[in-house]
Amino acid sequence: MKQTTKTIGRGIEMPKNECKDKKCPFHGNLKIRGRNFEGTVISKDVHNSATVEWVRRRFIRKYERYEKRRSRVRVHNPPCINAQIGDTVQIYECRPLSKTKNKVIVKVLGEDIQYKQKQEIMKEEQEAAEKQRMKKDKKETKEAAEE
Ligand SMILES: [Zn+2]
Repeated sequence: MKQTTKTIGRGIEMPKNECKDKKCPFHGNLKIRGRNFEGTVISKDVHNSATVEWVRRRFIRKYERYEKRRSRVRVHNPPCINAQIGDTVQIYECRPLSKTKNKVIVKVLGEDIQYKQKQEIMKEEQEAAEKQRMKKDKKETKEAAEE
């Protein structure tokens, strides 16, 4: 039977957009293999790369409990998928694409709301700290002027 549409297997849908990236698993000649992971995009750059992070649990035998550990990997972000910071994505292992990349984003699963909220809180805290510092500076200059 002739296949009419190209798929990359494993039940992964084709993205709506098209691209001309050679390292794209959908439109280039990259094949996915091995394990897959789900994580959040924490940074992204113009060279079709992104950093994905996820939390895993590691069992500590001595305490019979789990500890939280974070995995952070550099991944290829094909132009047709173009995942944004804060997106939850599915990534697959593939051949080495560069010195640090051997994984590729195959699907955007949605937005990581927790991550975005965390970022917003951090931003607010930073701004508050900045304001306080400015206030302090003003006070000090005032005191210096009075002397
Ligand atoms: Zn593509």
